Amino acid sequence: MTGMKKALLDAETRRWLADITSGRVRYDEPMSLHTSFRVGGPAEAFVEVKSADELVALVSGLAVKDAPYHVVGGGTNLIVTDAGISGVVICLKPYISDMVIEDVGSSHARVTVSAGTSLPLFCSHAIRNGLKGMNFALGIPGTVGGAIRMNAGTALGWISDVLDSILVLYPSGRLERIGRNSLSFSYRKLTLPQSFGENSFSHETIIVSGRFSLVRENAIDLKQAAGEILRNRKHRQPMSLLSAGCIFKNPSTGKTAGELIDLCGLKGRKIGGAEISIKHANFIVNTGSATAADILALMDSMRQIVDQQFHVNLEPEVIVIGN
Ligand SMILES: Cc1cc2nc3c(=O)[nH]c(=O)nc-3n(C[C@H](O)[C@H](O)[C@H](O)COP(=O)(O)OP(=O)(O)OC[C@H]3O[C@@H](n4cnc5c(N)ncnc54)[C@H](O)[C@@H]3O)c2cc1C
Repeated sequence: MTGMKKALLDAETRRWLADITSGRVRYDEPMSLHTSFRVGGPAEAFVEVKSADELVALVSGLAVKDAPYHVVGGGTNLIVTDAGISGVVICLKPYISDMVIEDVGSSHARVTVSAGTSLPLFCSHAIRNGLKGMNFALGIPGTVGGAIRMNAGTALGWISDVLDSILVLYPSGRLERIGRNSLSFSYRKLTLPQSFGENSFSHETIIVSGRFSLVRENAIDLKQAAGEILRNRKHRQPMSLLSAGCIFKNPSTGKTAGELIDLCGLKGRKIGGAEISIKHANFIVNTGSATAADILALMDSMRQIVDQQFHVNLEPEVIVIGN
């Protein structure tokens, strides 16, 4: 344990949570069950929301009670500290999940996808329906909401390339559709514009769905291309081990984070149960017994060594949350 968990929910809020979720709220839920790294201490309260209506009622109620909450999707880009998270963790997976395809002329389609939908499922659904645009994301785990928030991407493209608009939920309970032109995307980040009332993106603003613009294409061709992309990824990354994908962002110029870490001879270096992947130097893998503290300590040592040798300050790509 790296610290004490602070309880922020009073008895009245706990009763209200049990009521509004029909008893589904779970207390002291280990976040290691909800992160791809399989580390993380308990969430004070954990709710898998069942519907958009329930989400609106939950978020606006928590805001009135001034009770903190944090939204998560698939937990595939997260390190939750060993001390856990105070307040309510709202998980959109697996229930806030559906996809609706509308034709726009004969060559395009608009696809509206709920935030809790699995991103791999969306990619394969697009292929099956002969819709081009999502192949870049093949092999990225997690949810559509998390992918939009992180502006997930690969060398083949970013989610911002195909996104038309998003529906967001503010803490006040207000829903708003925001068009692509009013959204500011950068490397692994979405920032909402100041002009949208509730100011910049905070952990309290929730993406409820995304609307994507995809192009009609032959499904067999798309499937063939997809096979190649997935084979490539499997070859380069430790896909079957416990990780959160790339740990650091690539510097804007020069060598990639993975190249710098590799040049420092760090592949295979271990702290506790956390190890720098032999296959890809920008991946840390949990060999089975890692704690969040092991992973964070390994990240610190990687940053220090790369800074000493190359004078490059690596910036984390993973999001760290918790006490
Ligand atoms: C093996 C592996 C390979 C990966 N490869 C890639 C890759 O190639 N490219 C890439 O970009 N990423 C990659 N990742 C990282 C990760 O999968 C992506 O960032 C993914 O999009 C995160 O989605 P998630 O649902 O798991 O988000 P989470 O990890 O649950 O959350 C990430 C952040 O988004 C916020 N968030 C989640 N849902 C919402 C929502 N509905 N509204 C508002 N905020 C929300 C959370 O609060 C958190 O700050 C990889 C991860 C793994 C494990």
